[in-house]
Amino acid sequence: MEGNSYIIMQKFSIVIHGGAGTILKSDMTPQLEEAYIVALEEALNAGYAVLEQGGTAVNAIKAAVVVLEDNLLFNAGRGSVFTKKGVQEMDAAIMDGQTLEAGAVAAVRNVRNPIELATEVMVNSNHVFLSGKGANDFAIKQGIKLEPDEYFFSQFRYDQWKEMRDSDNYSLDHTHSNLEELMRDKKFGTVGAVACDMNGNIAAATSTGGMTNKKYGRIGDSPIIGAGTYANNATCAISCTGHGEPFIRAVAAHSVNCLMEYKGLSLLDAMNEIVHHKLVDMEGEGGMIGVDAQGNTAMVFNSAGMYRAMKNSDGEMVIGIYKD
Ligand code: ASP
Repeated sequence: MEGNSYIIMQKFSIVIHGGAGTILKSDMTPQLEEAYIVALEEALNAGYAVLEQGGTAVNAIKAAVVVLEDNLLFNAGRGSVFTKKGVQEMDAAIMDGQTLEAGAVAAVRNVRNPIELATEVMVNSNHVFLSGKGANDFAIKQGIKLEPDEYFFSQFRYDQWKEMRDSDNYSLDHTHSNLEELMRDKKFGTVGAVACDMNGNIAAATSTGGMTNKKYGRIGDSPIIGAGTYANNATCAISCTGHGEPFIRAVAAHSVNCLMEYKGLSLLDAMNEIVHHKLVDMEGEGGMIGVDAQGNTAMVFNSAGMYRAMKNSDGEMVIGIYKD
């Protein structure tokens, strides 16, 4: 053995999602399926490249989420859904599991990449959570890129909202009565990412346009630390997607942390418990992605499907849409 030195490298990994809901193979065309797979792979590789070059989990998830926010297929950034007032208000959050620092924004408008603004809140404000005009003013002050309303506009989301605007109903963009139409227009899904880097640090990020016809000012689970987004090196990094209200009441992401921290459950067992029991009991349709500081990953959902993908330094890569 003399002369040989062994470096035991920490496993690194990334997991992303593009929303969960009534996603059925019978409603999908091969072209659309391919478009989603290409989009997920592009985001996954953008995040993985950061990890491979020794970058941090925070930078990796941000890179992945930016790619998803820029893609009209997903309900985050460009392509976000409309509120009852006919405007787009976006929520996002990011959390660093090493420092337990977090940044979140809610009901922001015209911000090209809400995840960049959430990161700016985490790093360069003395706060965790900014909302509405205050968050927008902070974006301007920090030089975060803004775009006009037209940039975010998509005809389908607009038509989807017009169908609902005279009612008090609101819906997940991916649980839609006319799913075929929704699919044809190629827009679908809140986005999120979690990662474990070479140093065993983990982080979580989530970004969304929320739910169609939501009341203006409504905030979902995605930007709420502990509900839709949570990270702690001691346990897990989690990003959720689904019907936000039950996820908030279930404190979904932090509940996974608690089962691991206080009851010693594994990442997968803890996520299964929350998604298939606690959330189901509260009629919380959706799912979550997770990672722990050993680089283990999990993707769990109680809906018909969840756009999802994972890749790790052991050479494993999975891209999925439906229930297997
Ligand atoms: N959880 C998001 C919200 O309620 C929606 C989604 O995941 O699609 O705002």
